[in-house]
Amino acid sequence: MSAPTRPAGLTDDFLEGLVRRVPGRTGATWKLTEVYTGEVLVELPQSTPEDIEDAFARARAAQELWARWPVKKRLEVFHRAHTLLLDNALTTADLIQAESGKNRRMAIEETCDPPMVISHYLKRAAKLLAPTRHGGPIPFVSSSTEVRVPKGVVGIIAPWNFPFATGLSDAIPALMAGNAVVVKPDNKTALSPLFGIRLLEEAGLPPGLFQVVCGEGPDVGPTLIDNADYVMFTGSTATGRVIGERAGRNLIGCCLELGGKNPMIVLDDVDKAEWLESTVFGAFGNTGQICMHIERIYLPESRYDELRSAFVERAASLSIGASYDFGPEIGSLVSPDHMERVASHVADAVGKGATVLTGGKARPDIGPAFFEPTVLEGVTKDMLAGSVETFGPVVGLYPYRSVDEAVRLANDTDYGLNASIWSGNLENAERIAARIESGNVNINDALATAYASKGSPSGGVKSSGVGARHGDQGLLKYTDAKNVAVLKKQVLGARPGQDYDGYVKQMLSSLKLMKKLHVR
Ligand code: NAD
Repeated sequence: MSAPTRPAGLTDDFLEGLVRRVPGRTGATWKLTEVYTGEVLVELPQSTPEDIEDAFARARAAQELWARWPVKKRLEVFHRAHTLLLDNALTTADLIQAESGKNRRMAIEETCDPPMVISHYLKRAAKLLAPTRHGGPIPFVSSSTEVRVPKGVVGIIAPWNFPFATGLSDAIPALMAGNAVVVKPDNKTALSPLFGIRLLEEAGLPPGLFQVVCGEGPDVGPTLIDNADYVMFTGSTATGRVIGERAGRNLIGCCLELGGKNPMIVLDDVDKAEWLESTVFGAFGNTGQICMHIERIYLPESRYDELRSAFVERAASLSIGASYDFGPEIGSLVSPDHMERVASHVADAVGKGATVLTGGKARPDIGPAFFEPTVLEGVTKDMLAGSVETFGPVVGLYPYRSVDEAVRLANDTDYGLNASIWSGNLENAERIAARIESGNVNINDALATAYASKGSPSGGVKSSGVGARHGDQGLLKYTDAKNVAVLKKQVLGARPGQDYDGYVKQMLSSLKLMKKLHVR
């Protein structure tokens, strides 16, 4: 198969211009490649600990001024950014595809995430950041005001699977709240976040406020965390533990968005046509590299054969390809290394007795990191594919006899990021959702509805994470609450001449009265 035609806009000048802002005083670089071909796109500077400290110093200086801007003026930058991000979506998608190898549909969908986050917080941020007056301990003479203060400089560590979305979308509420940001993208996928930051600056974000440092995680991570006032991390559960430990030692907050082994329960009243397309996307969209994608599908025994054949037939028909147009339904994995990991999960499962119903093979004839959409049957928990996140286009089918059994199997995992339930009876599906141990549950959809609902917090439970993005807490987590309390008159304690027994009696009966007032 011939190499895909790289978009004309991705010239050497353009790419070198993007990486120029990454500090790297030693001159060391990392070869950032086009995934479809393995060709080097650009030499990415690698930041030293001193570079990172300097980046924080620049960010801190810019933040002091930014935090003094009225919230309304800060938000105007994001009004303009929303337009610029959408007007440049096609170039952004070119960059995302070149560095990650995903197909065009997913690249375009990814470009929509930061504008969606901006839209949501443009509606909520001013209200969330306004001081909130609360009652004080003593009615009429006391009050307390909750003031939201930006943390300072937020360190963001982002993965490669949605580099533009995770590089920008988590930064947006942090910036709106008055913080500066230092982001560390994955080396493989630094180009699209760099382009997005350029667009935010075109929209009026002050220079210096949004810094980018690059390097391998273990080299950059410690200095980044030690200089940050809060850390937002998206990545694997293993790395999340390392980040969380260091943030804990530094007594700074962190939000950890980690991996999943996400289950789907299909009830026997499911509408097959609706279920099929959404599930094929849920299992194989982004070549299976979505943190919320489905890796385990529980099918009712009564309809197992029918649903299995429809799913396997559709999976086998998916077109795989390396192309910057909308042709291929499935793109590449991110790298040959990751492809080896996915292949090793399939080989381990087959070696321990699982059956490949379709797929199961690498496709070097298409590109160095392509792997077929793969459906397995007979997967057990002693197999990697049965217990550990595969993060590729590999899904296991499991028959179940009763809903109780399906719920038990769905919950039989260390992870708790996303789950999907399919039924013609929404009330029944909601009852089952209540029993699922997961931060997100999608009913009659695989994953997108929960993630795109920016008004609700979205995060993982169990080993899938700590904290959440989106919703009010997705912005408030980047602030400290300052409690400013006012007492208009000194009425606490015994009055002059009042004995202490009398004072205590009066205080206790006042507390009873106040409870009655509060309860009313
Ligand atoms: P990863 O943990 O290997 O890397 C993520 C980021 O952390 C990268 O930028 C990497 O360079 C950096 N890193 C690695 N080691 C580090 C260290 N010791 N200190 C500091 N930084 C370090 O994960 P990955 O393989 O790049 O991404 C895939 C994982 O991300 C999957 O597990 C996926 O489920 C998860 N993910 C989760 C969400 C979510 O919202 N829950 C979203 C996307 C991806």
